[in-house]
Amino acid sequence: MSTSGVDGTGSDNVERAGGGHRIDPLTGSPTHIVAHRQDRPNLPDGSCPFCVGGSEAPDPYEVRAFTNRWPPFPDGRAEIVLYTPDHDASFTDLSAGQARKVVDLWAERSAALGARDDVSYVLVFENRGPEVGATIVHPHGQIYAFADVPPAALAEFATGGMHRGFDADAIGDRLVSNIGDWSAWVPAAAGWPYEVLLAPGTSVPDLPSLDDASRDSLGVLLVDIVSRLDRLFSAPMPFMMWIHQRPFDNRTWPDARVHIHIAPLLRSPGTARFVAAGELGSGVWFNPVEPAVAAAELRALSS
Ligand SMILES: [Zn+2]
Ligand SMILES: [Zn+2]
Repeated sequence: MSTSGVDGTGSDNVERAGGGHRIDPLTGSPTHIVAHRQDRPNLPDGSCPFCVGGSEAPDPYEVRAFTNRWPPFPDGRAEIVLYTPDHDASFTDLSAGQARKVVDLWAERSAALGARDDVSYVLVFENRGPEVGATIVHPHGQIYAFADVPPAALAEFATGGMHRGFDADAIGDRLVSNIGDWSAWVPAAAGWPYEVLLAPGTSVPDLPSLDDASRDSLGVLLVDIVSRLDRLFSAPMPFMMWIHQRPFDNRTWPDARVHIHIAPLLRSPGTARFVAAGELGSGVWFNPVEPAVAAAELRALSS
């Protein structure tokens, strides 16, 4: 496994990935061309495929992971994770025990996919709400298992930010909530209004390495944070969530610390925060909400 996805010249990557993986010669950014995904149904016909008895969940379950039927990657390297058999539940409806089952499944699938020779990085994530492209309302997330360590993960190692750690003193008035060893705060340089970062206080590299108590805390804190986001504008908050963890490429990554990013889509009730040309064209974020103010608003929404 190599980590050359960012600076590869292209030919090697294109060949290895069967033509779908390309490197833009202008920017060096990797793109997977996944034209076959255009055929996937926007909304499946009839009954929900994720409910018990549905096409993707024939048997009763509490949590469930399975290969994505419309995968961006071949060979079972894309999975769907079902959080609950309850179609109408929200993440915020999950009990502490059920949230813990979700965390355990994320950890189990990270370890299983990460152990494969053709996988260097396991990205656990969720797109919540039709505004960010979720086509099925049944509570679920996804996992992509990358052949190479993706640029966004590599960039965090390059900054040394994880090596310096997530310093509780520096978080200060941007802290939103903490449970057990896990804290949630608005980053000082948040690019998204109401962006939240979650991490444990101790140095744990990946989901499978989290101990019993830390998994419990993470589950409860995630429910707490999503609940605050839902109450912020009195409507379910559409968001993108992703988990960064140690690359599973058999190299040592002493700085790796598991953490979770949540990027809520709205900046005020009913108003989306669009990523605009000035930002895409410059690579510089412009955030209209002061992070300390965002944190204070979210803190005030304790249940
Ligand atoms: Zn369902
Ligand atoms: Zn990160």
